[in-house]
Amino acid sequence: MLTLRGHHLICLHFFSGEGYDSSFIENLMDVLKRAENEKIEIAATADNICAKCPYLKNDKCAYDEKADAEIREMDETALRLLNLSTGQKITWQAVKEYIPIVFHEWHNRYCNDCDWKQACEKSGLYREMKMR
Ligand code: SF4
Repeated sequence: MLTLRGHHLICLHFFSGEGYDSSFIENLMDVLKRAENEKIEIAATADNICAKCPYLKNDKCAYDEKADAEIREMDETALRLLNLSTGQKITWQAVKEYIPIVFHEWHNRYCNDCDWKQACEKSGLYREMKMR
């Protein structure tokens, strides 16, 4: 079974092929493919995406000093918006249906200051959500 943490349940819908390195990108594509057919367990910390991230150190995000705390806060917000909790098992399709409902608050809160904003802007779904 796949594991995904809170903020990935939202941000991954806007993946446009960019990532930290080729191993991270390949893994991400594989996870997205598996998510179409497998159940997803909601992880409290590092998940199947983090597993191939070059910044993962001792199960924490070491992107910069504040990153791990910031990401945990994003996870909590994502789960609150999606009305989900860690340990729960869900389908990718079910999460997808919530994206139009939660996007506005998510975008206002996080996207403008996010390093990946330019990558997400290449996603048709992301642009569509912004236009709503
Ligand atoms: S811009 Fe950043 S916070 Fe917003 S959806 Fe993309 S990755 Fe997530």
